[in-house]
Amino acid sequence: MTVHTGRHFLQIPGPTNVPDRVLRAMDMPTLDHRGPEFAELGFNVLAGSQRIFKTKQPVIIYPASGTGAWEAAIVNTLSPGDRVLMAETGQFAALWRNMAEKFKLDIELVPGDWRHGADLVQIEARLQADKAHAIKAVMVVHNETSTGCVTYPQEVRQAMDRASHPALLMVDTVSGIGSLEYEHDAWGIDVTVAGSQKGLMLPPGLGFNVISDKALAASKANSAFRSYWDWQEVINANKLGSWPYTPATNVLYGLKEAIAMLEEEGLDNVFARHKRHAAAARAATKAWGLETVCQDAHNHSPALTAVMMPEGHDADAFRKIVLENFDMSLGTGLAKWKGKIFRIGHIGHFNDLMLMGTLAGVEMGLDLAKVPHRAGGVLAAMEVLKGRDIVQMPKAAVA
Ligand code: PLP
Repeated sequence: MTVHTGRHFLQIPGPTNVPDRVLRAMDMPTLDHRGPEFAELGFNVLAGSQRIFKTKQPVIIYPASGTGAWEAAIVNTLSPGDRVLMAETGQFAALWRNMAEKFKLDIELVPGDWRHGADLVQIEARLQADKAHAIKAVMVVHNETSTGCVTYPQEVRQAMDRASHPALLMVDTVSGIGSLEYEHDAWGIDVTVAGSQKGLMLPPGLGFNVISDKALAASKANSAFRSYWDWQEVINANKLGSWPYTPATNVLYGLKEAIAMLEEEGLDNVFARHKRHAAAARAATKAWGLETVCQDAHNHSPALTAVMMPEGHDADAFRKIVLENFDMSLGTGLAKWKGKIFRIGHIGHFNDLMLMGTLAGVEMGLDLAKVPHRAGGVLAAMEVLKGRDIVQMPKAAVA
């Protein structure tokens, strides 16, 4: 057995590194979720989540993974036979689509090659053509974790508005929230789907739905079966700071702390930090002479960088070498990208030197795995990071 010292580098694009502050906040005795103390925590995390999702609408927090939150979005608003428009952007879009198929939705698919965001021109064209308004929902993934390509929800909303189409807009921001700009209300999102284990810096265990008035009205009119996921039951209980079933109490303690951390840093600074790290990771990739999976400069993810492996080299064999030699986990290629790409997570609780360690591990791993590349990726990333704006220093310290 190999003995590793120091901290493991968890550089997959989620679950992400949980800050010590959050771990300590969760290290609490379990409390009575129907007792008086719990309501205070309940109200606190519900209000805090509204600030993170930028909404005045209800935020539903389930003890569930992101997949549960996908299902909740579907079963509350849609019935078997309802037509939905989905965009093929990668494996997570594919999994949501598989689920929609299981619920017997009638899926109209906008194809994609897993190297771009959703095809907005096609989305608009399909909506324009749907004069009878048969399409009940447009469903997209904000940050496609399997490819590192972003689809901007506000651009999808604009396409829908140009087509004057009344469908609901549903957005999976499981790996976007807390890392990429997100505005549920201002962008006209009807159902937001999210999870705790990525930009929110928590362990897995919480699934989120944020809903609009229109989505809530659709759920009230929807007679399809649902029970655990029913929004209304959660909303009713949340009015008393409670849940209709046992909530993930200790993860909620963590959520309270994670929201405090995000707000101390300032959400805009959090987003800028992710963009800077992504720019540095892309500079390294380019210097190595490797290609990012995402081919559109406008759509590069701030949360992760997915890298194409040169032909004839197995990305998973490379990842194994990195894990064994440097105790660093990189993200595997999923589904059609299995063995062909690796993913560098730079999401959540992260800083410049963590990124430098990560990129150094990748560069050394490329050498050890004999993957053809040029040296100098780490140096190229350093140049980007050194460009840090000095005016961020307190005035006194600069003088
Ligand atoms: N959507 C996206 C974009 C994801 O990245 C993931 C998980 O990585 C999911 C959905 C599914 O979430 P979970 O694995 O928490 O069920």
